[in-house]
Amino acid sequence: MNNKKIFVTRSSMPTFDSYIEAIKPLWETHFLTNMGKYHQELEEKLKQYLDVQELSLMVNGHMALELAIQAFQFPKDAEIITTPYTFISTTHAIIRNHLKPVFCDVKFEDGTIDENKIENLINERTVAILPVHVYGHVCNIEKIQEIADKYHLKVIYDAAHAFGVLYKEKGIGNYGDASIFSFHATKVFNTIEGGAVTFSDHKFYDKLYKLKNFGICNEELITEVGTNAKMNEFCAIMGLCNLKNIDKVIENRKYCYEYYISQLKNIKGINFFTMNSNINWNYAYCPILVNDNYKMNRNELYEYLKENQIYSRKYFYPLTSDQNCFKQVYKNVNLSSARWIAERILVLPLYEGLNIKTIDKIIDLIKN
Ligand SMILES: *Cc1c(COP(=O)(O)O)cnc(C)c1O
Repeated sequence: MNNKKIFVTRSSMPTFDSYIEAIKPLWETHFLTNMGKYHQELEEKLKQYLDVQELSLMVNGHMALELAIQAFQFPKDAEIITTPYTFISTTHAIIRNHLKPVFCDVKFEDGTIDENKIENLINERTVAILPVHVYGHVCNIEKIQEIADKYHLKVIYDAAHAFGVLYKEKGIGNYGDASIFSFHATKVFNTIEGGAVTFSDHKFYDKLYKLKNFGICNEELITEVGTNAKMNEFCAIMGLCNLKNIDKVIENRKYCYEYYISQLKNIKGINFFTMNSNINWNYAYCPILVNDNYKMNRNELYEYLKENQIYSRKYFYPLTSDQNCFKQVYKNVNLSSARWIAERILVLPLYEGLNIKTIDKIIDLIKN
């Protein structure tokens, strides 16, 4: 164990034999993609598991978000209020739709968008709010919906981190006009690469079906400028296999997470986020805040862990709004809380099957 690199995450996988057994029928049908049998089966099973009315599978979470935004047909150059404290995908999806991200600050408590700062950012060009359930922490859904209703805005949630999260005993994908999930290899549930959009209006299903398949309506008719965002059958089968074990996976993550917290909570200068009540969480990440009264700063702790083969991550630093590709366009936006968190955040390794001995080693290093 001493020389083995420990990464922040490790993909859950079914047993080799069960996956091989499950893909065998493909050698009979030779039907490998284009919304095949397993694609349909996974959509049905995910609808049940996520407790949502409608779901469209996608090739990845990013395309799920790009196409969910495209499906609303917002006017060009319209504005979407969003958070900079997220993975770059959230911001890219807005810009790649020829829309303008308007960055709103986040809350210290849980890193989600600060609902009390949204209204100030609304103007006649605003069409939607795109919050992120960052780490699976649930945004203030009621307040956000109230604002959206008042100003006739759409709400699209980036729920990439929130697979299996319940809010008030309902699947998180039921809130807002649409939500997107990521099934990337690094996420709580994976299809190797994959994602989905969830929503309640069935018309949206047909729209997304066309958008993910080049806008094809029938053999001779193309009605939309679509793209290719279809999930293939190998990935769908991976999803079906992983879904069988998902409850065990989350249970194991919970055990590891609670062990971390029980040991870290008494260390001076190491703090945690607090979560909105009414949440059944998925233990997607183990984020800690390295505060000013800890004996090193965040970057020093990150390096120190790395020297000891522990590869933690600064999720999310820098803020997406500060990224090089945006050439300082957003540098004057007041994002002081988001910046404060981004300077202190460190995400520790957490995944199914993480050894308690490894967690002990990480805790010892942090205790010093
Ligand atoms: C992972 C992620 C995405 C993108 O999902 P992919 O499946 O990797 O394309 C989008 N938003 C957030 C917040 C993510 O963490």
